[in-house]
Amino acid sequence: MLNRGSGLEIKNNYSLEKLNTFGLDVASEFFYIVKSLRELKIVLRENKTKKITIIGGGSNILFTKFLDGLCLKIDLKGIDVVEENKNNVVVKVMAGENWHDFVKWSVNKGFGGVENLSLIPGLVGAAPIQNIGAYGVELKDVFVSCETVNIKDQTEKEFDEKRCLFGYRTSRFKTIDKNIYVIISIKLRLTKKKHKYNISYGSVKEEIGNRKINLKSISKAVIKIRKSKLPDTNFIGNCGSFFKNPVINEKKYFELKNMYPSISAFKVEKNQYKVSAAWLIEYLKYKGKSIGNVGVYKNQALVLVNLGGATGKEVLYLADKITSEVYSTFQISLQPEVEIL
Ligand SMILES: Cc1cc2nc3c(=O)[nH]c(=O)nc-3n(C[C@H](O)[C@H](O)[C@H](O)COP(=O)(O)OP(=O)(O)OC[C@H]3O[C@@H](n4cnc5c(N)ncnc54)[C@H](O)[C@@H]3O)c2cc1C
Repeated sequence: MLNRGSGLEIKNNYSLEKLNTFGLDVASEFFYIVKSLRELKIVLRENKTKKITIIGGGSNILFTKFLDGLCLKIDLKGIDVVEENKNNVVVKVMAGENWHDFVKWSVNKGFGGVENLSLIPGLVGAAPIQNIGAYGVELKDVFVSCETVNIKDQTEKEFDEKRCLFGYRTSRFKTIDKNIYVIISIKLRLTKKKHKYNISYGSVKEEIGNRKINLKSISKAVIKIRKSKLPDTNFIGNCGSFFKNPVINEKKYFELKNMYPSISAFKVEKNQYKVSAAWLIEYLKYKGKSIGNVGVYKNQALVLVNLGGATGKEVLYLADKITSEVYSTFQISLQPEVEIL
């Protein structure tokens, strides 16, 4: 244990096994749980020479080796309504809040906008990093802004929705400003009435059936569908979708459609098609297959699972093998959704 001048107790050689949903047994050279903004600024200032890695719930990270430098787990708590009128509220949620707990809080208060994002693992601070999305809704649809602290000089800066450069599973924090900021809180605009229910996904509609469409029934349906499709990280180590669904142009789509009539894809914009990465992987017969301690989940080909005692390198080996076979068969480059460290 290092006891710095400020009195913050930084642990060393700290196991992250319980802090990543893949359940990979890796350690961090130094580790600290940040409980306040003041602590965050002190710990960053006092460790300027170290490589800093920020983690939330560890549900979108693949650790492939010992983590050099200082790993900070963000544990800032609090949910507040900061603006309100008769139709909407703006809520400010601190980065260390559990995402799904926040969704439950919103649904119970009758605030609409995040119900389709029920049961996504992880913490609130990571939600803007890849603009989390599910069942036809993305974080950006309700996003107002986020407050950040610069890792190098500890200055605070707020980014509004436009400046976050959100896209499909991406943002400025994953691209031009990767590893520059710690997100300390986010603000979301939620509806109090005239909710815009999104049941565009057939499975959600089906699950609701004859029940009344409201925030609770949508949230419940999403939870039920997710539980039936995705492995529970408490029992099977995984990070959800390992790959993003690739987006290809129309010409390429029609070429593929010609060769593989059952290919699963849908138009996202003019001339752009999003292809189901799960379909590509399934076509190559990887669904349910395993190599050593790592497998492709039997119910969802996008999910790689730790079958017990896997290392990050083994996961990466299978991911690379799938990527190269997808490329040689379809000439499509799969990109990981998961952050590989
Ligand atoms: C079973 C399962 C299902 C999933 N389903 C979905 C889904 O439907 N949709 C979806 O979008 N995602 C999904 N995910 C992925 C994951 O839940 C989300 O990406 C989530 O937002 C990650 O949160 P986290 O706190 O665990 O982030 P972590 O894994 O801890 O971190 C992810 C990245 O964000 C950075 N980061 C984390 N917190 C901060 C912060 N406060 N400031 C700056 N950087 C930060 C990290 O450095 C890292 O680069 C799923 C994962 C699992 C395991």
